Amino acid sequence: MDVVFFTAWIQESVRVLSINRDLLTRLDAAIGDADHGTNLDRGFTSVRQAMEQTPQDTPGQLLTLVGTTLVRRVGGASGPLYGTLFRQLGKSFGDAGEVSLDDLATGLSAAIEAVKRLGKASEGDKTMVDALAPASRALSAAVQEGVKPDEALERAAVAAAEGAKATIPLQARKGRASYLGPRSVGHEDPGAASAALLVSALHP
Ligand code: ADP
Ligand code: MG
Repeated sequence: MDVVFFTAWIQESVRVLSINRDLLTRLDAAIGDADHGTNLDRGFTSVRQAMEQTPQDTPGQLLTLVGTTLVRRVGGASGPLYGTLFRQLGKSFGDAGEVSLDDLATGLSAAIEAVKRLGKASEGDKTMVDALAPASRALSAAVQEGVKPDEALERAAVAAAEGAKATIPLQARKGRASYLGPRSVGHEDPGAASAALLVSALHP
């Protein structure tokens, strides 16, 4: 997978986040402050502009640019967290011109650990981690089994979507939604929903 693959991932992410902007904002209206969709749409629109202005040569450079732009433009809790996810993933690829599915699985796992450290979040806290972590595990398992990339990415997308839906009965323990205490139960976490969209964009 080269810079063309990762560019396509980010372009697809820009597209699905824009289409789902209002849905994400509605989810955030229920247990937050109704800005998650607009935050991400603004951030990824800037990412698209940055990619067009300064084309990048390697997957690592591209993902670092994505992460840096998200930190600058998204704001809110999710900006630094997604910024960290993409920057760490970029860093793990170094200056390789091409990375394998195994590299992606390993890099994603390390990037999610960095997100968990920054947010002091664990699985089950009702955050983006609840979609990202199962996706990463599904991808690593698929790599171990030697399944084809297409199928491996598909399994990651399914695991992320299931992880996002599984946040509905949880009580939030991190972020703004945690202020609601038990009233956060019964709603899908907006960050878990956006994380599932990002993972599914790997396999459009
Ligand atoms: P804000 O909460 O500042 O308005 P957003 O609405 O853009 O920011 O993002 C909210 C999402 O960020 C939540 O749904 C959750 O998934 C994620 N989030 C918030 N705090 C944390 C945290 N400490 N660790 C991991 N994810 C978090
Ligand atoms: Mg919000």
